[in-house]
Amino acid sequence: MYVIGGGPGGLAVAAALRARGVRAVVLEKSDAVGASWRAHYDRLRLHTTRRLSALPGLRMPRSFGRWVARADVVRYLETYAEKHELELVTGVEVHRIERAGGDWILHATGGRRLTGRAVVVATGYNHTPHLPEWPGRSTYEGEFCHARAYRAPGPYEGKDVLVVGAGNTGAEIAADLADGGAARVRLAVRTVPHIVRRTTLGWPAQRSGILVRRLPAALVDRLGALLARFATPDLTAHGLPRPEKGLATRQREGAIPVQDVGLIDAVRAGKVEIVAAVEAFEHGEVVLADGSRIAPDAVIAATGYRRALEPLLGHLDVLDGGGLPVTHGARSPREAPGLYFTGFTNPISGMFRELALDAERIARRIARSAPKPSR
Ligand SMILES: Cc1cc2nc3c(=O)[nH]c(=O)nc-3n(C[C@H](O)[C@H](O)[C@H](O)COP(=O)(O)OP(=O)(O)OC[C@H]3O[C@@H](n4cnc5c(N)ncnc54)[C@H](O)[C@@H]3O)c2cc1C
Repeated sequence: MYVIGGGPGGLAVAAALRARGVRAVVLEKSDAVGASWRAHYDRLRLHTTRRLSALPGLRMPRSFGRWVARADVVRYLETYAEKHELELVTGVEVHRIERAGGDWILHATGGRRLTGRAVVVATGYNHTPHLPEWPGRSTYEGEFCHARAYRAPGPYEGKDVLVVGAGNTGAEIAADLADGGAARVRLAVRTVPHIVRRTTLGWPAQRSGILVRRLPAALVDRLGALLARFATPDLTAHGLPRPEKGLATRQREGAIPVQDVGLIDAVRAGKVEIVAAVEAFEHGEVVLADGSRIAPDAVIAATGYRRALEPLLGHLDVLDGGGLPVTHGARSPREAPGLYFTGFTNPISGMFRELALDAERIARRIARSAPKPSR
């Protein structure tokens, strides 16, 4: 059987399958495991704890510390693939999946046609950079990039930078630029995010996320509001009022809270200025939702990603209106037995943790139905 994608999700499934004696080949389009983590900005650390981010069958070493650095995540994924002796084929992109009788046919790089009884799609929630269709953007000649291209503040030293979007990535890039010598940093915010401390009195926000994940949203909203009053300062005067919609309600709509890794201090110190959402680009300027116009030296759009599953399997009727798979984990869509998905939810309890849990569930299900290899 095949696993598409050699990120943490795909590697975890392959390892869990191997532990059950099922042969799985991981197909990875880049030249190494963990492509997403290799490409993230330098300062990134896991905001989920080391212990709660380990994948099946291998702990993260203590020496990585509580908040694991990006480079150590990459090292961990490399070690993970080696330790579990995973069968990994790099440089192979799967373009399309088709059903033929009881099998799945994978159309991949170089005209390859691969056949398997089961396929796990682990191509990543943050697959393809998304840019809103801003009027005038295509003819804007100023410096502009998506957050995926951002690595470090060096190139922005002395510049006036506008970061668009206040999710975890935009918030951290804005703080990174402010720390790293940008002359001016503005953060354009459409919907005020919930901001939570990574830890409160030593207690990680992720553990709260795990505890409350099955409680009714209204209750979690109230608990979140209570905790926010105690743990995070009111930034209304700086342009970041407390959000109207509750934390869990927002999360269930797809917006996970921002973990503070420097934004609160930077906003309070005036090193990051909050401005209105971007509406358009016009005559070399950026037009904001409050009618003002600004002319930054550079714009970094932290406007999220698309799953981009349509070319791969849009024809199979297994995606919902938002382009997400209709099932995840151990369940396959009714019309597509043997097709599994991992990594397409955005849980408050931490994605690595959910990838690890889903890997075991998927492997258990596949192992029950798959013939064991003869040795
Ligand atoms: C900035 C950022 C910070 C995050 N921090 C955390 C955190 O602290 N804790 C946490 O739990 N989660 C975090 N996440 C969320 C999540 O854990 C990561 O995105 C994680 O990498 C998801 O793993 P994945 O395997 O599902 O996808 P990815 O890591 O994106 O891996 C997908 C792989 O599939 C390959 N691929 C894609 N398409 C194809 C194809 N058609 N054929 C072959 N190969 C293909 C890609 O090259 C890639 O290697 C973070 C996400 C981002 C963006």
